[in-house]
Amino acid sequence: MINNYTAGGHIEAWCTKCRLELGHTIVAMVANAPKRVKCNTCNSQHNFRTKPSKKKRIRTKNSLQKVKVQEINYDECIARLTDSDLANATKYRIEGSFKENEIINHPKFGIGIVSSVIQINKIEILFKDGPKLLVQNRKSGLGA
Ligand SMILES: [Zn+2]
Repeated sequence: MINNYTAGGHIEAWCTKCRLELGHTIVAMVANAPKRVKCNTCNSQHNFRTKPSKKKRIRTKNSLQKVKVQEINYDECIARLTDSDLANATKYRIEGSFKENEIINHPKFGIGIVSSVIQINKIEILFKDGPKLLVQNRKSGLGA
């Protein structure tokens, strides 16, 4: 199948913010497929996705993996990052406050993507080696 999508073009996509299927502008293409889109309604940029089906089709050899991790594929995530994304990656600090999909530069693990904010002070970051749980919002100088 050949899609005639191009960056700057229009596409119907699922808006992760509006939670509706809406008109989007394609921001980035990867291998003839839209990768990143901008919602024409709320102007938020997010990864291209179609309307989520009620039942998630999960095809994986390893069904023991958590669903969350399957949704974010490290290589895919890294592939769509631009040099400036990488240059602007947030340095990981336990005092930091991170949000989902934020790009993290960890001194030990390298570039990672916040796959999930589990608790106010606990996040899951997907690194090349796999997902890791890290703390955030940790006040330095505890002992109040
Ligand atoms: Zn939207």
